[in-house]
Amino acid sequence: MEKDIKDLKVLIDKDTLSARIKALADEINAFYDNSKSLTIVCVLKGAVMFFAELTKHLKMPIKMEFVSLSSYGNDFKSSGEVKSFNLNLPKLENENVLIVEDIVDTGLTLDFLIKFIKVKCCACDVRLAVLFDKKCARKFDVQPDFSAFDVDDKFIVGFGLDYCGLYRNLDYIGWFE
Ligand code: 5GP
Repeated sequence: MEKDIKDLKVLIDKDTLSARIKALADEINAFYDNSKSLTIVCVLKGAVMFFAELTKHLKMPIKMEFVSLSSYGNDFKSSGEVKSFNLNLPKLENENVLIVEDIVDTGLTLDFLIKFIKVKCCACDVRLAVLFDKKCARKFDVQPDFSAFDVDDKFIVGFGLDYCGLYRNLDYIGWFE
């Protein structure tokens, strides 16, 4: 189905996004021992804006890692399999790891990634921060530790989230009616 930016409705504006992400960073700062380093794994490409905004407000020493995973392709719903991926991560023994993802939907992508980081990278603690939690679509037992917004069963774009590779640069979250 073809979609156009003129059909896009604003769901969350720029100022609301910034304020909520700052509050989420405060929650994360309060949760961790800020004298110990934290490895943050950004799930490309969708989490890029959320990751950049969130990490600016974190107070502990941070290491940044990037992985690339997808279960959507060019569609409005999950394909049911984790598709392209680049999981070039170091060993993370004795590291606290925080995965930063745009949205948890069925939970397939994050279920895969959490297991990978625990088993292959041997991280001692793995937590999850998401910009959006689409609880109604969940099929895997994935529970974010930090979540900025709940969203119902809408397809949203903007602030990193795409449709067919477009709309990631929007500074707000929109949805197609
Ligand atoms: P899951 O593996 O949890 O089913 O899907 C997670 C991935 O699906 C997200 O990283 C994101 O790329 C994509 N996704 C899920 N819901 C939406 C949505 O409403 N909008 C967009 N643009 N992508 C979504």
